[in-house]
Amino acid sequence: MASHAAPVDLANGNGIALGSASPKKVAYFYDSDIGNFAYVAGHPMKPHRIRLAHSLIMNYGVYKKMEIYRAKPATRLEMTQFHTDEYIDFLQKVSPENMDNFQREQTKFNVGDDCPVFDGLFEFCGISAGGSMEGAARLNRQKCDMAVNWAGGLHHAKKSEASGFCYVNDIVLGILELLRFNKRVLYIDIDVHHGDGVEEAFYTTDRVMTVSFHKYGEYFPGTGELRDIGIGTGKYYAVNFPLRDGIDDSSYKSVFEPVISSVMEFYNPDAVVLQCGGDSLSGDRLGCFNLSMEGHANCVKFVKSFNRPTLVVGGGGYTMRNVARTWAFETGLLVDAHMDRTLPFNEYYEYYGPDYELDVRASNMENANSPEYLEKIKNQLIENLRRTAHVPSVQMQDVPRQSLGAMTDEDDAELDDLDEDENKDVRMTQRQWEQRIERDDEYEASDNEELEKVNGVHRNGTSRRTFQDYRNSDVEGDSGIATPTNGMGETVINSKETDEIVMKDAEDIAQDAAAETNEADTDSKADEKKSSEGIEAASIAEQEESLAEVQDASKSAKESEESEKATTPPQDSAKKQDLVLKNGKDDDEIMQDAEDGPKQPEQEVEKKRSTEPEAIKSPEEPKKDKDGDVEMDETSTGQKQNDGKTSKTEEAAEAASSTETTEQAKDKDTTPSS
Ligand SMILES: [Zn+2]
Repeated sequence: MASHAAPVDLANGNGIALGSASPKKVAYFYDSDIGNFAYVAGHPMKPHRIRLAHSLIMNYGVYKKMEIYRAKPATRLEMTQFHTDEYIDFLQKVSPENMDNFQREQTKFNVGDDCPVFDGLFEFCGISAGGSMEGAARLNRQKCDMAVNWAGGLHHAKKSEASGFCYVNDIVLGILELLRFNKRVLYIDIDVHHGDGVEEAFYTTDRVMTVSFHKYGEYFPGTGELRDIGIGTGKYYAVNFPLRDGIDDSSYKSVFEPVISSVMEFYNPDAVVLQCGGDSLSGDRLGCFNLSMEGHANCVKFVKSFNRPTLVVGGGGYTMRNVARTWAFETGLLVDAHMDRTLPFNEYYEYYGPDYELDVRASNMENANSPEYLEKIKNQLIENLRRTAHVPSVQMQDVPRQSLGAMTDEDDAELDDLDEDENKDVRMTQRQWEQRIERDDEYEASDNEELEKVNGVHRNGTSRRTFQDYRNSDVEGDSGIATPTNGMGETVINSKETDEIVMKDAEDIAQDAAAETNEADTDSKADEKKSSEGIEAASIAEQEESLAEVQDASKSAKESEESEKATTPPQDSAKKQDLVLKNGKDDDEIMQDAEDGPKQPEQEVEKKRSTEPEAIKSPEEPKKDKDGDVEMDETSTGQKQNDGKTSKTEEAAEAASSTETTEQAKDKDTTPSS
């Protein structure tokens, strides 16, 4: 079970990935409702971009080389695998109509400014999380080599708090799913913002390594310093590469590839989650990096070359046309599709003028990352990574379910069902406990600040910083022309000065590390013992013991709270087992390769979901909002409020023949100039 079909391709041992010619089986998750959701007017986050990307993917014919799924939306129960019940309950019941009755909760859960209440919020979260969870489940069952969910990647969401346009953390939920079958999961984040929500969730465990490359310094969310490396068992399993404005393709590659190679070599993950936030692209409305489409996609290509089961998710990205181009290109890259530079005609063609090309070009903005700076940080991170070699997790025993022998997935699913039926009143059956391979002490959430302080962890950011504090002036120019300003206004820090601070940090950390070497060796032995106990722990008692050790080590001031966590089995986990198994769609549900046009697969899905009569509506003229974006999404949301069948009509409109859409495009007087 634990060995994956995908061969490990790190044979040379030097951490240099060998490209693989072996075709990848890719499962792509898309829910056509996603583009109908809209945050409030003028909000930079536009779910519509996912529909744009999907349209390119279909019209390029990339869909022919992969399996397309519509995931079952994540349920409240599934979301509470990570989030608190009261937070999810709030998301489920709050609406634009009743939000005034929930002012206290809005403050408490940080719902309001960056993360507004909008129509269909909970549904949106369900679709986003459902895709990542089902992608992870298919990877677990070796039904695919790679899974893609562009509606996911919402990395800022916290256990009981919305943050940075993110409400439900689909990535954490996906990783929790992967941890059921994999000993070590690697998370890589190339969004321009720090992947704080995911890092925080797994800050104290070595079962997940989080690696984030991001802008650091007067920038949302304010976390992700070089010296934030994890705590307790998780020490050295959080990796942060703080970057400055304007990083270009070659600079990014010069740090991304060696760091990821070292991660693969030393950590040797069983599965990977790659967050592909598109706000690290040049010309992003909120970002400040200078990556071209190729430079961004090189990260995907590089991660793919390691041949690990990989879940690819979206994330930020606020210049819609560039996000769509890049995610379509990256989807094509995963399936080795040839994609012409000239964009195929599609229903959103007018977004891509004036060049109508599949490209996002870098601009001439200054790169504030000096080679010396990058080299120093890179070396420090690789030094830290060496310390994760031969770590406790490597010593972990095989997961108990292996001993069940050669069972098929179906046998397994049947046993699970039976087990569930026989234990209706039990929160988690013995079988389910045995199938779990995670330990309860591993998943930290938003409430570990004190613990971190005790451990000398420096976290500069306040949790309530907002995106808008650091947004760029509205950069909506053409890719390759616009040079993002840094958007910091009065607080521009001389980059040389900050470089010195960070490089000094690197030196300090190196010294600390040297001083700790002896101590670490001792720790490591203790940890080895603890870990093998931890993984075999099928009983609550043993989990408690394992947790107690972590607490001793960290001298945590939060003992009472933590032990409470340990003695309570994770809520609703029992149900989860069943839900996940039922979620996995069978191969017969795979949409057929359509010979007769790229829209066919989507229509197939629709047939399954609804038998309502088709209602063709003529697509409306795109409106521009004050930011210059074409506001097709908001048009449809308006309808959504009045008409429950909007998604259907939208769909029908989308499925309109290409002839029809050609004419629409020709008729447009207002080709967006943005
Ligand atoms: Zn971002």
